[in-house]
Parts: sequence; structure tokens; C-alpha cells
Amino acid sequence: MPAPSRRSPPVPIRDRDPSDPAFKSVELAQRGRMILDVAAADLEMAEEHLGPFHETTWHFRNALAEARRSWDRLRAEFGSAALDAALAEPPLAILTIGEDVDPPRAIFLSIGGKTYRVERIAGTDLAPALWRLTRLPLSEDGPYYVARLRDGTYRCDCAEWTYQVAQIDHAPPCKHVTGLLAMGWI
Ligand SMILES: [Zn+2]
Repeated sequence: MPAPSRRSPPVPIRDRDPSDPAFKSVELAQRGRMILDVAAADLEMAEEHLGPFHETTWHFRNALAEARRSWDRLRAEFGSAALDAALAEPPLAILTIGEDVDPPRAIFLSIGGKTYRVERIAGTDLAPALWRLTRLPLSEDGPYYVARLRDGTYRCDCAEWTYQVAQIDHAPPCKHVTGLLAMGWI
């Protein structure tokens, strides 16, 4: 009798074909979360700069209500646990704003369930690859600076890095470094 073949480990979701159902649900969840967070940030900004009754503010208020309805539909369809699991996956959906210009005005990623505006900024001698990650809606945490250093190691200035990664030998990098690595951007 032939020996049972050893099952190969499952292919990580982000490496699967975009038509794969698991890939699709992670994509939908991450995209929906980002649209919701960007809409909330837009409204916040409009209220602050234009006031609560300006036409643009109303536009963003409606956009946020629509994004929330879509998000609630997604939650009803997938269930909260599946949605949370999808958001915990490394980023695979990219949300861009202002695609008519190159590079787009803003690029967003969903990392660890949080939405970040991701900007490549000028590197330095010590850190040739440098990215700024800004939380949306705007938060007191960050922005974070994520770097690949000249010696090929990585660094982030988030609390996870400072209090865990930097303290423990061979600890895996923080979610920001892991996220950018998954995208192949750093
Ligand atoms: Zn970090």
C-alpha cells in the first residue's frame, strides 16, 4: 500500500489566485474597512475646516453613512469572527485615491485591522528604504517610520517594536514591517 502522501501546508491567502474565495473575502474585508476609515477621516477634516453644514461636509457625511452600510452588510454576510480574521491577514488590498495622477495622491493599506496611509519618503544613508505610516482616522499613535537599514535589518518606531521586538532575541518584526514585507515594498 502506498504511504499516505504528506499534505503540503496551505498556500498563504495573499499568495493565492484573486479568484480564490478566501482571497476575495480578505480583499473585501480589508477594502471595506479602509473605505470606512477614509470616509470617517474625510468627514472629520471637513467638519473641522468647513464647519458641520457646508455642502462638502454633507457630501462626506453621506459617503460615511454609505460606507458604514456596506460594512454592516459585509459583517452580516461573513460574521464578525470571519471579518476579524480577514483583517488580521497581512495586507493584500491596496486602496488608492487620486489615481488620475502618478503616483496617486494617497495609498492606503489595512494592517492588523487598522487603516494606514502609506508613503514612501526619502531614505537616508543609514536607512535607504523609509516609509511613513499614518493611522486613519487620525490618531495620537504615530505616524510610524518603518525602515530597512543599510545592513539589511528592519526597524520601526512603534510601541510593539520598542517594547517587544527590540527586547526579545529573534522576535518576529512588528505588524508594520511584516505588512510592508508582505507587499514586497521594503
Ligand atoms: Zn511597527
